[in-house]
Amino acid sequence: MKFADLHLHTDFSDSTLSPAELVQVAVNADLGAIAITDHDCVEGICPAQEEAKKFELEIIPGIELTAEKDGKEVHILGYFIDYLDKVFLEKLEKIKVIREKRIFDMVEKLKELGVDDIEAQDVFDLSGMGTVGRAHLASILKKKGWVSTVSEAFRKYIGNSSPAYVGKFNMTPEQAIKTILDVGGLPVFAHPHNPGEDNLIPEFVGYGLKGLEVYYPGYPESIVKHYANLAAKYGLLLTGGSDFHGDVKEGSVIGIPRVPYDLVEKLKQAKNEKR
Ligand code: AMP
Ligand code: ZN
Ligand code: FE
Ligand code: FE
Repeated sequence: MKFADLHLHTDFSDSTLSPAELVQVAVNADLGAIAITDHDCVEGICPAQEEAKKFELEIIPGIELTAEKDGKEVHILGYFIDYLDKVFLEKLEKIKVIREKRIFDMVEKLKELGVDDIEAQDVFDLSGMGTVGRAHLASILKKKGWVSTVSEAFRKYIGNSSPAYVGKFNMTPEQAIKTILDVGGLPVFAHPHNPGEDNLIPEFVGYGLKGLEVYYPGYPESIVKHYANLAAKYGLLLTGGSDFHGDVKEGSVIGIPRVPYDLVEKLKQAKNEKR
């Protein structure tokens, strides 16, 4: 039986593995397909595809967009996107700039809290190409000894309700879903149990949502079943993946949870029907 992992980050967003390294690990895990789903960023897709040519590994071009609804963060995955679309790339460029500005603001807030030896440039040096995010800032907080783990950095400083947190302008879920549809992609509600706002699902379906991420690390059988039932109710596809982030997110392992490759076939069918 073939398996897939449809939720992976590279170091173009906030993981610690490069696309080529990620491909190597996926091959070793015996996966048939993986999706590159960096935060607001598509630069990792081509290098992953390049590396995967050496193996029998399929790369699905994807993205994970951050959206916001009534102050709650909602993540929308997009699969089989046209990642070369010019208007799309311009949109992502704008988000990238917003993300960079926000690092300056968070560094400022940290200074007010007495964390006086971190500069925004330290964070940018770590993040390199692609998008910058809180995970990079968390790693710097750890490196400079202010915390001993990345999760402590979120808890103490930059988590959504922590003192140095700075929000950013986010798309609405409607805009995120439409952005993905506009580039021929299939929009999927990422880890729906995390925002835990199931009441939003019918609204998202109205905007063109095509799937729910039901297989996700830590989701017990009961949660998987719950979202599979909702997917059946609203005619949505099922997806899943590890949300792998390398060393940044403790405990995420490529290929866990197991996601049957059949789901990829169903995504492809849906993509072809859209054409
Ligand atoms: P951002 O998009 O810059 O707001 O950062 C969000 C990212 O930070 C998420 O995708 C996670 O990778 C990471 N993150 C959020 N909360 C935590 C946490 N408690 N521990 C570790 N990483 C986290
Ligand atoms: Zn992340
Ligand atoms: Fe997410
Ligand atoms: Fe993710």
